[in-house]
Amino acid sequence: MIRPMVNRDSAYFWEGTQKGELRIQSCNACGVLRHPPGPACPRCGALDRGYVVASGLGTVFSYVVHRHPPIPGKELPIVIALIDLDEGVRMVGEVADVADDEIEIGIRLRVDFNRVDDDLTLPVWNRAVEETR
Ligand SMILES: [Zn+2]
Repeated sequence: MIRPMVNRDSAYFWEGTQKGELRIQSCNACGVLRHPPGPACPRCGALDRGYVVASGLGTVFSYVVHRHPPIPGKELPIVIALIDLDEGVRMVGEVADVADDEIEIGIRLRVDFNRVDDDLTLPVWNRAVEETR
């Protein structure tokens, strides 16, 4: 099992997944959202940062199907997507319930949370079922 690195800049994210929240770092000075998290705002340079809770909906921007090499604790292939969140940031995530021959750019996804143990809950993405308008 590969564990993500949790540090001072990303702790808020992993605390969020444990609560079932997908958090996006925000700048308390200018309000811009950013991901991945970092110490300073890329727009205004402020160090004062917070987060917002994302809706958990996004769209596949691109993806890779990982077939090799083996990953400890994983059954291959797995689908890793670059997901454009509705909030306007882009996030890498594992797509759980879309087969490797069904994944497509533009598919709508919804986040879910996979509790690994007391310390770690990983976000995973499933196909979103949305009302058609
Ligand atoms: Zn800012």
